[in-house]
Amino acid sequence: MFPWDKSAGEYSRANGFHVILEKRKMITMSMACCLKYLLITVSWWILSLSSTQAAQPLPLHDKAQAEDSEGLSSPLKKYDNYCAKEHFYEVPKAWEIQFHRVVSNLSQLLGGYDIDIVAWPSWREPPVVNGKRLEGGQYVSGGHGGGGKRRVMLVLEIVQDELIQEHPHMRSVIAHEYFHVYQRHVNPSIEEAFSVKWLIEGSAAVFESMYLRDFEQVDDYAETAQLRHAVPDDFGARMESYGNRDVNYGTSTAMVLLACREGGFQRMLDFWKRQPNNTNWKQLFEELFHVSVEQFYRKGQHVSPKTLDLSRMGSLHQMRF
Ligand SMILES: [Zn+2]
Repeated sequence: MFPWDKSAGEYSRANGFHVILEKRKMITMSMACCLKYLLITVSWWILSLSSTQAAQPLPLHDKAQAEDSEGLSSPLKKYDNYCAKEHFYEVPKAWEIQFHRVVSNLSQLLGGYDIDIVAWPSWREPPVVNGKRLEGGQYVSGGHGGGGKRRVMLVLEIVQDELIQEHPHMRSVIAHEYFHVYQRHVNPSIEEAFSVKWLIEGSAAVFESMYLRDFEQVDDYAETAQLRHAVPDDFGARMESYGNRDVNYGTSTAMVLLACREGGFQRMLDFWKRQPNNTNWKQLFEELFHVSVEQFYRKGQHVSPKTLDLSRMGSLHQMRF
């Protein structure tokens, strides 16, 4: 039901909704980040001159150059199109059709990634992948695949009741988990050196609600499934760790909605692009949101979750991912 920490290398979720298992090895971020963004910005500008398509991912060779020049561990590479390797076990056709429609929308927004996507229905045992039986639930794992090769795995156990009832969570959870994949692309620190739960999960939760609103005509998911679980008294530093009660990430959702109330969700995306880690995130937060984290926490304890909604977040169709 609640988030827990588990074995190293996994980054996952469970409950009717989410849980995370993650790796906490620290890596050092260097000032070369600035150089990387300069290179990416220049490359992007050059690309934009030769293309009429506004939201085209950076060409891989440009990105590789930027990464080589700084010597950081490689972020997950982005491709133009959906390119995940699917490992589907007895998945119902109705789910597969929905999945491909949703993931096509998501790939157009967030890019394609060479990851493994594993899915199976809840009425059978979780499958064995790379010699190991998977844990149930829905999550993203950053472990290693066959031959020790680093592979990101997006795991989707299909909940039978959600399929029968056509529950929006069946679609939104795909958006939530795919956003975690995108987070790994923009900020490699998330795998090992950034673990602030309310920012990681709140961002994915707000994204999934925006996805339902902008692509699936479901407008009330944030209110009916997330914010109603928010606890204002929990608003603050205790939401930085995963070992806390946060039903359906309601409090984390409220915190991200409050942080973005002035600048929209774009500001949170810009925060992620600055590659926060456990050392620099408070400074980056203050730069982007114009309030210190401590002031923000104090402010949040006096805000009713009922005053928060998606209306000020902007449209996903307009976001610069
Ligand atoms: Zn999550």
